Amino acid sequence: MTILLHGQMMDVPLTVSSLLAHASRHFGTTEIVSKRIEGDVHRYTYRDCEKRAKQLAQALIGLGVESGERIGTLAWNGYRHLEAYYGTTGFGAVCHTINPRLFPDQIAWIINDADDSYILFDTTFAQLIDRLAQRCPRVRGWIVLTDDAHLPAMQSPTPLISYETLLEPHDGAFDWPLLDERQASYLCYTSGTTGNPKGALYSHRSTVLHAFGASLPDAMGLSSRDSALPVVPMFHVNAWGIPHAAPLTGAKLVFPGNHLDGKSLFELMETERVTCSNGVPTVWLGLLNYMKEAGVRFSSLQRTGIGGSACPPAMLRTFENEYGVEAIHGWGMTEMSPIGTLAKLNSEQSQRPPEEQRRLREKQGHVIYGVDMKIVGDDGRDLPWDGLAFGELHVRGPWVIERYFQKDDSPLVNGWFPTGDVATIDRDGFMHITDRSKDVIKSGGRVDQFDRSREPGDGASGRRRGGLHRLRASEVVPAAAARRRQTQGRGGHAR
Ligand code: AMP
Repeated sequence: MTILLHGQMMDVPLTVSSLLAHASRHFGTTEIVSKRIEGDVHRYTYRDCEKRAKQLAQALIGLGVESGERIGTLAWNGYRHLEAYYGTTGFGAVCHTINPRLFPDQIAWIINDADDSYILFDTTFAQLIDRLAQRCPRVRGWIVLTDDAHLPAMQSPTPLISYETLLEPHDGAFDWPLLDERQASYLCYTSGTTGNPKGALYSHRSTVLHAFGASLPDAMGLSSRDSALPVVPMFHVNAWGIPHAAPLTGAKLVFPGNHLDGKSLFELMETERVTCSNGVPTVWLGLLNYMKEAGVRFSSLQRTGIGGSACPPAMLRTFENEYGVEAIHGWGMTEMSPIGTLAKLNSEQSQRPPEEQRRLREKQGHVIYGVDMKIVGDDGRDLPWDGLAFGELHVRGPWVIERYFQKDDSPLVNGWFPTGDVATIDRDGFMHITDRSKDVIKSGGRVDQFDRSREPGDGASGRRRGGLHRLRASEVVPAAAARRRQTQGRGGHAR
């Protein structure tokens, strides 16, 4: 008879609050710098941040918010939003980040579906809230992320209170409770243009494990010597986990607020000695264009993560060849918290001819520990990792969704989540999301017949070569179609 011999180590739950508590204690004087909506720069430390997050927790508990309740946020990247991340999850409430770039109808629907009890929002969204509030009758209060002096003139939402007034009576003398690590932490909705958005409900465990994964050297490689500027918004998939990975590693955090133009980003990077930054290609395009026009160069930036949509090969080259900044292409999705793959080379790959290295790095990359992936054909069978066969990408892992919020049925297929993306995986384990011609898919799904103009290494310039009638994957692969229709509406900047 087999005996199950349990390990005899402490069963300490992986809680989100432990990340901030660690930073507060061990990197207490490390700065968090925020460009505010008002235009000025706010700076304080991890220690200050934890105190105020605790004040928020006290305030919300005082308002009667209970463990498991959802608190919505409609906010840019900034210190108050960070406090909301921790001040809600820290006592067991769920932080529901809402993407303000969705249609107002969708936002109202999402708030009601999530059953948010309070909404915290930046002053820039006052008009949006005015349009929504009446349609969200179960919201018990609207909290503006500002002080009384800056309260915007608004019509409908009641009660309306400023965040600073809410925090003011509380002293931050509060111990984070020891929560069950399987308890919900964050709620993020995917933004479909057809059908209603669907909620991905992360757990404390998945959030912390994802933060470990995101920090790995072959992922973001964060450390206490870094100054990290997430351009990716905190309202979309937790800014790729940087607000958790930074306190885990002790990296300085720099928040751009709503100042996302090239000039503002460049100036903030320079003044705060930013070493790493993450964003979608459209944001980097604005930055690179500004830099070219202004004739300026980075003095501190070492690496940049690019994802959310395919990174143009020319962008990778510009960062590296013209500015000496390592550009790392990555792939993920809301349902994966979001990190899945990153295109970093191992030591053997780094010895290969430059052209081969380039082709690898233009792909979406290899998984990090914690994510398992495979590609499957129409018949559901696994396809080979030969860089030629393509099929739907399936993933699994401790930070991958099991089922959507408020849904009984699980989307999993034999324990794997079908991403809706169509990809090849090569012998190196590098995944590449493909964009193909109709002809190929009809003829058995092999890349050898597809217009190679879209293969990594050729860039977008060859898009029209080959004379094939080119279609998006969504038009030809049923499994991908629904997903693609969704992602088309997700808007570059909004990630
Ligand atoms: P979202 O859940 O809104 O973050 O969208 C995730 C989707 O964005 C993925 O399923 C992909 O379709 C797309 N995506 C993310 N990163 C990349 C990338 N590096 N290249 C191509 N598509 C990407």
